[in-house]
Amino acid sequence: MIWNPNKECMSRDEMSALQGKRLHKIVQYVYHNVPFYRHKLQEMDLTPDDIRTIEDIVKLPYTTKKDLRDNYPFGLQAAPQSEIIRIHASSGTTGNPTIVGYTRKDIGVWSECMARSLTAYGVGRDDIFSVSYGYGLFTGGLGAHNGVEMVGASVVPASTGNTEKHAKLIRDLGVTGIACTPSYALYLAETMEQIGITKDMIKLRVGAFGAEPWTENMRAEIEERLGLKGFNLYGLSEIMGPSVSYECRMQHGSHINEDHFYPEIINPVTLEPLPKGQTGELVFTTLTKEGMPLLRYRTRDLCALMPGECGCGRTSVRMTPISGRSDDMLIIRGINVFPSQVESVVLSMKEFAPRYLLVVDRINNLDTLEVQVELRQEYFTATFDTPAAIDELRKRLADKLRSVLSISAKVQLKAPNAIERSQGKSVRVIDNRKLK
Ligand code: ADP
Ligand code: ZN
Repeated sequence: MIWNPNKECMSRDEMSALQGKRLHKIVQYVYHNVPFYRHKLQEMDLTPDDIRTIEDIVKLPYTTKKDLRDNYPFGLQAAPQSEIIRIHASSGTTGNPTIVGYTRKDIGVWSECMARSLTAYGVGRDDIFSVSYGYGLFTGGLGAHNGVEMVGASVVPASTGNTEKHAKLIRDLGVTGIACTPSYALYLAETMEQIGITKDMIKLRVGAFGAEPWTENMRAEIEERLGLKGFNLYGLSEIMGPSVSYECRMQHGSHINEDHFYPEIINPVTLEPLPKGQTGELVFTTLTKEGMPLLRYRTRDLCALMPGECGCGRTSVRMTPISGRSDDMLIIRGINVFPSQVESVVLSMKEFAPRYLLVVDRINNLDTLEVQVELRQEYFTATFDTPAAIDELRKRLADKLRSVLSISAKVQLKAPNAIERSQGKSVRVIDNRKLK
């Protein structure tokens, strides 16, 4: 089944024509409604009339996460506030999160993109589908939720946490589909094994996994342990949220909803566009978004666009799995974490030297984060034999980290000079997770 064959199976010529028309319109729209873009285009001596076909896109400026941060909170919003019906936020680097406002039409487009994904996975009206991405400011939960309602399956808004209860619900309700991070799927499998729920007691058959990188080995393990078929779901909040692209039953790359999000691959160093098939940084232009349209947004995700047709009948271009990032962002339990966020917390507390290390691991399929920080000599000397003071400090740091990162970290305070100095570029992160 294909949700919207008119859009998912267009000929290449029709698609290019549609993209060109939409690009012209969106450039016109941001030119008139977002001073940030108007100034950028004026600086480059461009007017919306210079952008007529999709090939003209290379003339346009890039947008980065820093631009979003510098214009916090609503600087890049194009629609008037009265038209915005929902606001999500994604973790930023240091300081401000990225705020994304959606109009009613945006939510409709997003739901349809999610419905396209679910249909490609084989989810339909008869399914009982658990959304186990976090609900809240993160786009995963509500984004997937709207799509499940659109296809007409019964949505179980389980969110994350409370895993034992969730496992029992999966068994008792006969839940057939689930959307969550691949690492949460493994954690769920583990929990089920612990409480004695076996594969033959549950009806799970489809998993929509994303929000973090995963591998074929992880896919095989999840499929084996939960007895389902796992599909990739990709997205980012700046562009929309989950379902910017999705795997079909051929499972050979993920189809991009390119009538709404135009993809390019660039060399992240020279910023030159790369030909189809080459790996580089993925860049998206939103072609229909009203709330916060973005021109040539640099995702920092590394992948390639795949040439050629797909056996499923869809003609939309596919992307390979994300193979890495062109920045230092970590994804821990599905949450974006930048080492610079930890740094800003450490530097804001006078007790610490500017020496820290993030140790990331995966224990029982759950990501863990430990932050090691060095005490300043004066402070170390003063508190050396007052464990209560050290405990209080550790707790204060842990609280601050939790509020900035949105996940909890174990804190280890170190004596001065205890964190190993590296030659050259300092090592801020040790990631022991094996993408098995
Ligand atoms: P979301 O709410 O969709 O997770 P965020 O903005 O919080 O959006 O995070 C987006 C980032 O998560 C992407 O830029 C990418 O690095 C990562 N990501 C999302 N889905 C996938 C996926 N299927 N495979 C690999 N990485 C993914
Ligand atoms: Zn396909």
